[in-house]
Amino acid sequence: ATPTALLVGTGRAAQLGIVIKGPETLESTRRVDTIVLDKTGTVTEGRMELADVVVAPGTDRALALRLAGAVEAASEHPIAQAVARRAEAEAGALPAVEGFRNHAGRGVSGLVADGGAPAGTPPRAVEVLVGRPSWLTERGVAGVGADDALGRAHRAAEADGATTVVVAWDGTARAVLALRDQVKATSAEAVARLRALGITPMLLTGDNRAAAERVAAQVGIAPEHVVAEVLPGEKLDVVARLQAQGKVVAMVGDGVNDAAALAQAGRQGLGLAMGTGTDVAIEASDITLVSGDLRAAPTAIALSRRTLRVIK
Ligand code: ADP
Ligand code: MG
Repeated sequence: ATPTALLVGTGRAAQLGIVIKGPETLESTRRVDTIVLDKTGTVTEGRMELADVVVAPGTDRALALRLAGAVEAASEHPIAQAVARRAEAEAGALPAVEGFRNHAGRGVSGLVADGGAPAGTPPRAVEVLVGRPSWLTERGVAGVGADDALGRAHRAAEADGATTVVVAWDGTARAVLALRDQVKATSAEAVARLRALGITPMLLTGDNRAAAERVAAQVGIAPEHVVAEVLPGEKLDVVARLQAQGKVVAMVGDGVNDAAALAQAGRQGLGLAMGTGTDVAIEASDITLVSGDLRAAPTAIALSRRTLRVIK
């Protein structure tokens, strides 16, 4: 390939909002046969809305929302932003948090100074956890088992396709929060165009399987091409496993959690970051899709294939 033609290709791409790190990147796109799409923020808007709150018997709904919101206010995860936004709207100013911790792909924890003591008694600090039930159970939290009311509420919300987290304090689960996200209007067309290029689209997410399959169905990805409930560290393994099977993998992602997998995809194929996503994902990728419109992924691949055909 002549450098001049490749430079023309990257220049044309830039006009389309596709930023390519080096002209040599175009070469890698030629053999891509599989594209792994991160779900939240890539295929979906990544703007969650809190759709439903189910509390355990005897738990005050406003308190559950206030404590969950207090801890989530310190996190940038789309789940966290939705919970904090709604908690502030309904419960007003959120109490302070000490010792906030983000447990990637699992949840958040922190000590909330005002844990809702009865009127006339001094405020009481409580440790609040918000996250997936398996993680809460690991941490010794009671009340999220298969036979518990909240365990059942959690499963029902997941079966309904919601992204679902549990709120716990004082070692007991108190509420289930169900969240919803919107699929981007352009994602289904993007998936169809990728398929037309002979590339198999897959959906990858840390979210639960039912929510993942619901999004997959909306954009035309088959259930067998959905990889769900993947921990952040395992996204890289999913890409590496496909590569070991002989696939040439492109990956599109936006999150801190996607960075390692994007870099891994770039070793043999291509890493593409949403320009609307995190800097870490952009730095780990070969290509940035400036607008966050997933249709730029097939455009980038088609353009580089055309560029290379002209050269050969
Ligand atoms: P995705 O792959 O969709 O970006 P993540 O790996 O970020 O998902 O998160 C996977 C799961 O971990 C979430 O569905 C949720 O159950 C839990 N989780 C992650 N961050 C948070 C948070 N800030 N609050 C509550 N739960 C969280
Ligand atoms: Mg994401």
